[in-house]
Amino acid sequence: MNVIIAPHPDDETICCGGLIVDLLKQRKPVHVIFVTDGRFGSKNPSLRGSNILVNLRKEEARRATSVLGLEERNLTFLDFPDKGVSNNIAVKKRITELLNELKPDAVFYPESTDLHEDHSSIGVFVDEIVGNFGRYRYIVWGEKKGVPKLALDITKYYGRKLAALFQYSTQLGGLPPQIWGNIVSRREIFY
Ligand SMILES: [Zn+2]
Repeated sequence: MNVIIAPHPDDETICCGGLIVDLLKQRKPVHVIFVTDGRFGSKNPSLRGSNILVNLRKEEARRATSVLGLEERNLTFLDFPDKGVSNNIAVKKRITELLNELKPDAVFYPESTDLHEDHSSIGVFVDEIVGNFGRYRYIVWGEKKGVPKLALDITKYYGRKLAALFQYSTQLGGLPPQIWGNIVSRREIFY
């Protein structure tokens, strides 16, 4: 079992979209854990913080992961509030419980140095969880230098990844340019 931990709906596709397609092609099971509900991921004041946005983002996540080849039963939405992860020990507890259930061989999760607090906090939590699984850390916000553990060429799945990303219409509009390099890269990098 391969587990992808996404702080917000979209991180799984941005950092692991090609990886997910690749694993499924090899008939390796994949499960995605969405930690927060992403309720603050909008610049539109009437959407920001609303349940309407929460439901929209969940629907986008279902569609995007379906494009990648996953089914609803391969997804878990933990529904913690967006920006409510830092110092929230309940988040660590729920992730620990799920990893105990799923018994992953590999876990893909954010780097503890990511500049977004939800991402870095989850990175710290998972770093602290004791488990006999391979650890692959990705970075969305920020940069990391050094030799990656895995640099996956996703050229073959590039179209699928873009098609999945385009399901996130609430998110694509607001993305700053520096993140596009990551999104459109033909490689997915893990440390
Ligand atoms: Zn995120």
